[in-house]
Amino acid sequence: MKYSELAELDKKHFFHPTTSFKQQQAQGPKFIFTEGKGIYLKDVRGKTVIDGLSSLWNVNIGHGREELGIAAMKQMKQLAFSSTFATNSHERVIELAEKVAKMAPGDLNMTFFTSGGSEANDTAFKTVRHYWQLKGKTAKKKIITRNKSYHGVSMGASSATGLPAFRAFPSLAPDFLYVDSSIEDLERLIAEEGADTIAAFVSEPVQGSGGVNPPPEDYFKKIRALCDRHDILFIADEVITGFGRTGTTFGMNNYDTVPDIMVIAKGITSGYAPLGGMVISEKLKNELIELSDGVFMHGYTYSGHPMCCAVALENLRIIEDEKLIENVQNMGDEFQKGFKWLADKHDVISDTRGIGLLGAVEIMKDKETKTRFDEPVSVKVIEEALNHGLLGRSIIYEGQDTLAFAPPFCINKEEVETVISIIDKSMTTVLNQLK
Ligand code: PLP
Repeated sequence: MKYSELAELDKKHFFHPTTSFKQQQAQGPKFIFTEGKGIYLKDVRGKTVIDGLSSLWNVNIGHGREELGIAAMKQMKQLAFSSTFATNSHERVIELAEKVAKMAPGDLNMTFFTSGGSEANDTAFKTVRHYWQLKGKTAKKKIITRNKSYHGVSMGASSATGLPAFRAFPSLAPDFLYVDSSIEDLERLIAEEGADTIAAFVSEPVQGSGGVNPPPEDYFKKIRALCDRHDILFIADEVITGFGRTGTTFGMNNYDTVPDIMVIAKGITSGYAPLGGMVISEKLKNELIELSDGVFMHGYTYSGHPMCCAVALENLRIIEDEKLIENVQNMGDEFQKGFKWLADKHDVISDTRGIGLLGAVEIMKDKETKTRFDEPVSVKVIEEALNHGLLGRSIIYEGQDTLAFAPPFCINKEEVETVISIIDKSMTTVLNQLK
C-alpha cells in the first residue's frame, strides 16, 4: 500500500500510544517504517533515517538482526506457549533467568518475568508491599520516587512517575511520594512520614524520559546506606540502562551500588520481542521463601513467554559475542565528546549530560540568567534533524528544553560524527530562523 492509503487507515483505525488526537488527525503519521538495518530505518516512501534514539531507547543491538527472527521461529515451532504459573516451567525461561542472574550485580539472582517495564515496576511495587505484609509490617506500604522519574504507564507505574504530565488523570494509585534528587530531601521526607510507613525507594540509575539526568556524585551509595538504616527496600529501574546502554552491564554498576530489586525490560530483547522483569536479591528471595504461607497472587499470562525468552537469549548472546558493551564505551566517549563540541560551538547549550550511548543537550536563551526561549527550541531542532535524516527526541516536561539521543550499540565512529554534524546543522538552521 502507498503512504497516502496507509495514512488514511492509520487516522481512521489506529489509536496511538502517547498521542495528541488532534495532531494525529491533522498530520497523519510522520513516518510509516517498513524496514530497518543497523542504525537505519526506512520509510514506505523510501526515505532512510538514523534511529538516533534506538526507537524507544530499546533497539540496542540495532535493526534487522535475522538471528533473533530465527530464534523466535525455532522456539515457536518447538513450543509456542507454555504457562509459567505456579510450578509450571519451560526450558527457555529457566535459561534466561539463569543468564540474568549471571549478569546481574551482587546477589540479585531470581527473576519474575513480565511483558514490559510498566508491568515489571508494578510487580516490584506489589512485591515489596507483599514482603512487608509477610513480615507483619502492614503500615510499610508507601513508595518514594524521584521527581522527573519515568516508570511507565500502568496504574502503579504512572503513579510512581515523577513527571506530573503522566499523572494528569482524575485518579491514581495511592501511597506514592515524590522527592527531589537530594539526600536531604529524602531524609526529611522519611522523618516526616516515618520509616515504618515506607516500603521502598525507586529510582532509575540515570533518569531517561525526564531529560537524561545522571545522579549527583555518590548519590546511590548514600541512598543505599539511608535505605539500610531505615529498613526501606531499594528498587533500581534499569529499563533503559540495563544490558549495556551506559557502557556497563547495568546502570547501577557505574555507581557501585546493588539494589534489593532491579526492574528490567527494553534492552533484554533489544525490542525484538516484548519482555520485562523484576530481579530480586538472594536475601529477599530467602526471606520470601521462609515467610510465605500462601500464594503470591500475581502473574501475567505472558510472564516468561517462550518466544520472548528465546529472543532475549539470542540478543544477550549477540551483545556478548560482538562485545557491544565495549563499543558503547568507545562510541560513548566519541558521542559525549561530540556533545561537548556542540556546547562549545553553540552558546545556547547550557548543559550536556550523559553516560555511554545516552546523552542530552539542554538549551537556554541565556545561560547566565537561566532564561528559556518563549517556545521550546528543541522541538524545532528535532524537526529540522528529521529533514537531515536523524530521529531524536525533544524533552520539554517541567520547562526543560532538551535534545535527547541514544543510538544503537552497533553505531561506528563515522556514524557518531554524522549524528553530531546533523545536530549541529539543525541547531544552526533553527537558531538563524529565531534571529
Ligand atoms: N521504566 C523506565 C525507566 C522507562 O524508560 C520505561 C519506558 O520508557 C518504563 C519503565 C516503562 O516500560 P514499558 O513502556 O515497557 O512499559
